[in-house]
Amino acid sequence: MKSDARPAHVTRLAPSPTGHMHLGHAWSFLIAWCLARRSQWRIVLRLEDLDAQRAHREAEADLRWMLEWLGIDWDGEVVRQSERMDWHVECMRTLESKGVVFEAPHSRAELRARQTPVRDVRMQRDSAGSGGSKDGADAPHEGDDVLRFPSSLRPPRDQWRFTNRTVNHRLALDPGEECVHDQVLGTRVFDPSAIWGDPLVWLKAESASYQLAVVADDIAQGITDVIRGNDLLPSAALQQRLHTLLTGQSTPPRWWHLPLVRDAAGKRLAKRHDAMSVAGLARRGATADRVRGAVAFWLGVCDVPCDITRDAFLEIDMEHSVRTLSARATPCRVDKALEAWLVAR
Ligand code: GLU
Repeated sequence: MKSDARPAHVTRLAPSPTGHMHLGHAWSFLIAWCLARRSQWRIVLRLEDLDAQRAHREAEADLRWMLEWLGIDWDGEVVRQSERMDWHVECMRTLESKGVVFEAPHSRAELRARQTPVRDVRMQRDSAGSGGSKDGADAPHEGDDVLRFPSSLRPPRDQWRFTNRTVNHRLALDPGEECVHDQVLGTRVFDPSAIWGDPLVWLKAESASYQLAVVADDIAQGITDVIRGNDLLPSAALQQRLHTLLTGQSTPPRWWHLPLVRDAAGKRLAKRHDAMSVAGLARRGATADRVRGAVAFWLGVCDVPCDITRDAFLEIDMEHSVRTLSARATPCRVDKALEAWLVAR
């Protein structure tokens, strides 16, 4: 590739700086970075900081420390979603011009009262959600409580518009299946309207919702490859739909949904797991070589965890390892033995 040529592939690291980075972040970022660096893809670092109440500088410092510690670099300026309001508004205008957005001032309590719970969706559980303080600003992760908005609550069609930024807005989603062609999991089919009903696209706190912002920015930044945890697989179906509405083309990014890293009890690691945060492990003695070693072990590259330098990590045939991940048995689990090995001096 000539140095001034536009890379054929662009991926992004898209953390929400709302808490400690944990081994799940290290896992997906190391894989994305290695895939990209081995094949000369461009890497965008995008801070998904739309949830102003939860995003904070300390979390951003923790993220930057982790990336540097693991030797993960990126290309160009860091992008902050909170500074992209104009583009997000423009995308809302596009949706408005297609007649698919409407004001939805309903409270969570009102929606909960109308719920017919949708089951069998990976990210949903019946328990109360651990979701963000600002409904819709965060990605819906496993264990989060996602409320379905029924089409019966839509206002009359002649009132569909986007004129007041201080009111929640939703996307009128037609029922219909969406095929998600995933590089790791194969083809999966979802009907996003059966999961979300009409999803939030604009929040009364005057920002795009997670679902709109992620698609708007993937389009603007020319993202061709999205690499992230597989609890966002159902979101990919909705994001494809939004992508088509916004671009007029059905050319979504390639999806790479990775297994989630879990603790000894099988629970997905989350930002509240301070003990499993990368900085916490480093304080207890873990090295970057050990963290890369754990990732290589989960990838099935080595039979037992062993130290892996940055250069050795880049030698891994990452594309092959990731594409064959679902055929392998090694679960991405931080059990007692792996944790003890990570911090052993
Ligand atoms: N910022 C999201 C999160 O940290 C991930 C978004 C995405 O990859 O689509 O959960």
